Parts: sequence; C-alpha cells; structure tokens
Amino acid sequence: MRITEIFHSIQGEGVYMGIPMLFVRTNRCNLRCRWCDSKYTFTGGYEMPLEEILETVRKANEEWVCFTGGEPLIQKEALAFVRSVAESGKNVLIETSGSIDVGKYVFSDSVSIDMDVKTPSSQEEDSFLSGNLKYLRENDYLKFVISDAVDYEFSMTFLQRLDRKVNVVFQPAWGSDAKFLVESVIRDQLRVRVLPQFHKYVWGEIPGV
Ligand code: SF4
Repeated sequence: MRITEIFHSIQGEGVYMGIPMLFVRTNRCNLRCRWCDSKYTFTGGYEMPLEEILETVRKANEEWVCFTGGEPLIQKEALAFVRSVAESGKNVLIETSGSIDVGKYVFSDSVSIDMDVKTPSSQEEDSFLSGNLKYLRENDYLKFVISDAVDYEFSMTFLQRLDRKVNVVFQPAWGSDAKFLVESVIRDQLRVRVLPQFHKYVWGEIPGV
C-alpha cells in the first residue's frame, strides 16, 4: 500500500473527535479540493507491505485506527486492510471523500465511515457518489466543510433532499467565520453538529498530528 505517514494522535474532527487513534495516512487522491490541507499526499509517499502495516496496527496501543489520506479507498489493498483490522478486534474510522463506492466497507459495526460531501468552495462539489447514501448507518456520518454562505446553502439543499435520517457534521473551514455557521444552524433549526478541527487548535496547520 502507498503510505504518506503512520502516526499516533487523537481524532481531530467529526463525531469521534478526541479518541486516541493510530492514523494510517495513505498517499494519492483522486480529487483536488481547493482548500485541501493534505496536498502533501498528492505525491511522494512510500510503498509499505500490507503485513507490515498490519503489524504496526497490532503493536499499537490504540483501539482505533483512522484510515485516511489522500483518499484511502483508492488503494488496491484498502478492503483487505480494513477487514484485517476489524477482524483483529480494533475499530476503524474510514475518512473518505464520498466519491468512491463504500458498499464493501459496511460489513461490520467496527468500521465507521466519515464521508465528505464536497461543498462549492472545494471546487469538487460534483464528486459525491449519491449511491453511497444508502450505506450510511448509525455509526457513520456525512461531513460538510463550510467556508461561506454559498457552502451553507448548498449543504442545506443537499440535506433537504435526503429521504432518510443520517448523522451530519458541519465543519467550519479553517479560518472561516464559525460564528456565522453556528448562528445559521440555530436560526434554521438544523439537526446537525457543528464541530471544528480540534487538532488545528492544538498544533496548528502541520502534517502528521
Ligand atoms: S478529498 Fe481530501 S485529500 Fe483529496 S483533495 Fe480533497 S481534501 Fe484533499
């Protein structure tokens, strides 16, 4: 598998925020979001045999593994990796862009999915695979990174068209007006959670944390 880095940290965003996790950050992504904070995953990286990654997971103290990128699900061995980690008794959180079919990954409650819906400010707003919606379970969630009023309206419209209840996180884009987002959610009585990127408050914008 092509890896960017493997490191110990706490989950910095989404509904599992604050949980210590071993992060397996893969290399390469099929999208090019304008505000991507992981552009360093677009190139470089190194090949690491699957068994070696699994050995690192086995030795780690963390009960959770965050499988992230880049886009982790474009790795050829992604499914084998997720299955092996789940079978080992650990939990896996998959952070995916929403553009790749996740149907094969919802085989166990030990596997949770953080699924982005790319907003207009990303310039990848047409990338979402709508067929993914049917796979979302109670332990999964949709995440919208919101920069401005245009992103907010886009996200509201998206949610209004959903025909089922799913967990939703609105994440203020780093450096954007979080107060605007919170006040808009209160005004419109949305059933979403507004959550910032905790790791950036702790460490700033540096990779590998
Ligand atoms: S999907 Fe994620 S890693 Fe890929 S370009 Fe967008 S923000 Fe960056």
